[in-house]
Amino acid sequence: MEEKLRQLRDWILECGSIVFFGGAGVSTESGIPDFRSVDGLYSQQYKYPPETIISHSFYIRYPEEFYRFYKDRMLYVNARPNAAHRALARLEAKGKLRAVITQNIDGLHQMAGSKEVLELHGSVHRNYCTRCKAFYDLDYVVKSEGIPRCSCGGMIKPDVVLYQEGLDDRIIRKAVAYIRNADMLIVGGTSLVVYPAAGLIDYYRGNRLVLINKEATSKDSQADLVISGSIGAVLETVAGI
Ligand code: NAD
Repeated sequence: MEEKLRQLRDWILECGSIVFFGGAGVSTESGIPDFRSVDGLYSQQYKYPPETIISHSFYIRYPEEFYRFYKDRMLYVNARPNAAHRALARLEAKGKLRAVITQNIDGLHQMAGSKEVLELHGSVHRNYCTRCKAFYDLDYVVKSEGIPRCSCGGMIKPDVVLYQEGLDDRIIRKAVAYIRNADMLIVGGTSLVVYPAAGLIDYYRGNRLVLINKEATSKDSQADLVISGSIGAVLETVAGI
């Protein structure tokens, strides 16, 4: 482990165009459960699996049920950035890291101070009326009873990419460009099973692909360095350079 951390630190010293690609595991140390670990949302008991409830068709058919789950299990208003978010913000401020590409919807990277954050799956902090497009913040949604409604009467939808919905093309193109031009790609806290997001890392052309995760992923064999452990602890150790 010591040897692997030293290797990662050396590469960070050598590189100036690092890109980070992350998922729900980046925020578990902030108290937000991920989807697939033992303690994650998938292991809890619901009438339907989260994948079904947070799908577009479910949202359209059963908006009340959707919002009950969404408010209960997807919103963590008191969550604060952890060591991983802070380390990445520090690396960006030092001119080492170009962008954070995240599958997370919690806004914690921005809260930690990261400037260039590409949110592949949107954000719980942005919400729009489906009728008049008026903007509503997270607080409004949290405080609403049942389905959040706009003053015009329209239903409010979070700017979050639900299952069955497409990703924003502009964000995808930007993410691909960052990954293609990266001299190091650090991938962390993601099971790499949600597509098309997970496929983005295939655009990396360099020889410093680093995976930091608590469990093995299907891409481990392609990586130049695999570190098994807590992303907060690993990034905190190496980002203080
Ligand atoms: P995932 O739940 O499928 O996988 C998370 C991975 O992170 C697991 O492999 C787990 O072993 C690892 N992990 C958990 N805690 C870790 C830690 N402290 N250090 C290192 N590794 C850790 O998550 P995913 O791949 O991001 O896919 C789930 C989808 O669900 C994403 O699209 C995301 O949008 C959404 N989601 C987002 C949040 C959030 O915004 N915080 C939370 C849950 C789910």
